[in-house]
Amino acid sequence: MKLIQVPFTNNIIFQRNVNKADNRYTTFQNRGPQGIVVHDTSAGNPTLRRYVQPNVGGIGVNTNNNHWNRPEAGEVLLHAWIGTLQNGDIATAQCCPWNYRGIHCGTGSRGTFNDSHIGFEICDDGFSSRDYFSKVYKEAVELCAHICRECKLNPMGDGVIVSHREAGQRGMGSNSSDPHVWFDKFGKTMDMFRQDVRDTMNAAVTPPGNPPPDASSEWAREAWQWAFDNKLMDGTNPTQPFLREQMAQVLLNLNRQGFIGK
Ligand SMILES: [Zn+2]
Repeated sequence: MKLIQVPFTNNIIFQRNVNKADNRYTTFQNRGPQGIVVHDTSAGNPTLRRYVQPNVGGIGVNTNNNHWNRPEAGEVLLHAWIGTLQNGDIATAQCCPWNYRGIHCGTGSRGTFNDSHIGFEICDDGFSSRDYFSKVYKEAVELCAHICRECKLNPMGDGVIVSHREAGQRGMGSNSSDPHVWFDKFGKTMDMFRQDVRDTMNAAVTPPGNPPPDASSEWAREAWQWAFDNKLMDGTNPTQPFLREQMAQVLLNLNRQGFIGK
């Protein structure tokens, strides 16, 4: 993930956070985010500069003056945007601290996730390129893993990571289909997305390739490394006997890592 900081200081909602305009803002700031809403722009423009200014970190210049870091953009604030830099690389622009209250998902019959959730947009390319989709999907997974680590969120928790459509279905946002049309086209679901976030977080705890404390026999090297990378075994005493209680612990570890059981 390439994360660029672009504080939206000219945005009305950003300023309401700075000024602690009412208790919706102070509550969000004090409690911190409870989840994340995933959006796509459905606008067929993958460039960050369309929405994010000024031109920092290679974003490029918006010559149409229609970006969202202006008072005229109105009462809308996303925490982050994923799209292309001037040179075509994928990046994430963070526009406010994660504990600011944004406005991004509307209101439903039961309330709004604006009061509890971070919102970010993935800029789409008209849903055309599989290559572009895979890159921004990966960027979005890594962004959510980053936020979940920083804000101590469980990506598999009920209602923690939701799409805009799921927010609407829960009565916590407006009716919208994003980003499901795009995800569907390239074979992804929100359940897969949440699992990918969890896997990314697990993988980051022990970077694959970190050697286990004790080296195993040559024939077992791949399995020994895998069991260690996945936190199933501690990587010590590779040639010692295996006790029944150790077996039970490994089974529990497998379960906790989501490999087996309920
Ligand atoms: Zn949306």
